[in-house]
Amino acid sequence: MRYEMMLPHQIQWAIKERWPIVLPLGVLEYHGEHMAVGMDTLAVVKLLEILEAEMDLVILPAFYYGASSYAVEPPEGNGSVQVNADRLFPFAQDLFRALLRIGFRNIHFFIHHQTENFAAGMPTDLAFKFAARQTIFEFLEKERGEGWWGSDQMADYYSQQASGDDPFNWIKGHPLMTPEIIQQYPFDHAGQGETSLLMALCPEGVDMRKFSAKKWYSRSAEHASAELGAKGRDLILEHMRQVLGAPKGAP
Ligand SMILES: [Zn+2]
Repeated sequence: MRYEMMLPHQIQWAIKERWPIVLPLGVLEYHGEHMAVGMDTLAVVKLLEILEAEMDLVILPAFYYGASSYAVEPPEGNGSVQVNADRLFPFAQDLFRALLRIGFRNIHFFIHHQTENFAAGMPTDLAFKFAARQTIFEFLEKERGEGWWGSDQMADYYSQQASGDDPFNWIKGHPLMTPEIIQQYPFDHAGQGETSLLMALCPEGVDMRKFSAKKWYSRSAEHASAELGAKGRDLILEHMRQVLGAPKGAP
């Protein structure tokens, strides 16, 4: 379901049933002459739309205004929008604070921008990860008071953590492509991998008549195909199903 279309009784149901609520997180960034600037975020949105048909899921309106950086090209005439991570951090805190107050405890974000080494992190995902941690601490302290972790009710904390059910799992961030997927599918910027993926997910976002081989990073897009993109799509969907859990109608 789209969050913006939900009625309060549906929101209450989604909370009660612990439906995953997912933020598509991304940027607007120059992706060569042949691809739409929304590529990184569009990929997340389109994949979530496929999953929405097969599982109970809440999709938040996408956030496109991450830290694209001007590392690839300057913005003039190219379209990249850079918002500093120190601006993203308070935004993400407010967003997570609001979602926790509404009652959600199964919150996720997916990002596909500078995520080739997600464990180390890059400005956009680090801002959202940091905000998630800070907000959970703040929320628990407000709700349960100082000393909440040391209280007897938390005696099973470490076993809960092992089963993935501790409060720090209330908000989780994921790269769209895991290291395992990257071993099987090309990870690039505006190259064969991304171009193929967008051809499969959102063909109107690609125009190969505009392709230029001038820049090293997008040169491999020459070999892009919707067939290869479909392979990437299926690998990613499998990973998303794993982290988001149960199919539609499951208890
Ligand atoms: Zn990209």
